[in-house]
Amino acid sequence: MLNLVFLGPPGAGKGTQAVRVSAQLGLPHISTGDMLRSAIREGTEIGLKAKQFMDAGNLVPDEVVIGIVRERLAKPDCAAGYILDGFPRTIPQAEALDMVTEITAAVNIAVADEALVTRLSGRRSCTKCGHTTHVSMYAGENCPVCGEVLVQRDDDKPDTIRNRLAVYNKNTQPLIDYYQAQGKLTAVDGSQPVDEVFGAIIGALTGQAS
Ligand code: AMP
Repeated sequence: MLNLVFLGPPGAGKGTQAVRVSAQLGLPHISTGDMLRSAIREGTEIGLKAKQFMDAGNLVPDEVVIGIVRERLAKPDCAAGYILDGFPRTIPQAEALDMVTEITAAVNIAVADEALVTRLSGRRSCTKCGHTTHVSMYAGENCPVCGEVLVQRDDDKPDTIRNRLAVYNKNTQPLIDYYQAQGKLTAVDGSQPVDEVFGAIIGALTGQAS
């Protein structure tokens, strides 16, 4: 069983790495951001509640996010493990998670603030499959995975990015100490090229997978 949490500021590459590690280890990838965005697209009650917070770059209230994660972790595909991407983001979320499951490891993908603003403001996201690209690497207007149109997420615009980083520093960074105190933290240098970050994560987890 490998129950993983991916930590790191917005733009650190959590989503990119979670997709790859998920494919490599055969674990479901659970992104609360993706779940909330699809709830907004579908116009559900949760989506309606979440939208105003997300558009401003603020956190969706704990009880809303904890509810959707609890429901998701109860599904049979999570029985052998999972990768949580973007959850927990607050200490109360981490405590609620500890009540329902045992986390094996928290992977912290660390990147300096200046690099994050550049990464996020150039990021383009697929409206259908969630795949992300960067304007410095890919000039196309359509998703290279599914062909749907690529857009800039509303919360990837400069003012909102700054707020998301402030929210991260205040609410989410304390989770590094939280998992460190539990002896579960694995730190990875997220400023390296994508393949190297991936290799570092797999290398760090292999020892813990047995
Ligand atoms: P992400 O795709 O992980 O960058 O998340 C996008 C936005 O969704 C965040 O800025 C929050 O508004 C919201 N969100 C995602 N996960 C959480 C969470 N665990 N707690 C609160 N809000 C969240």
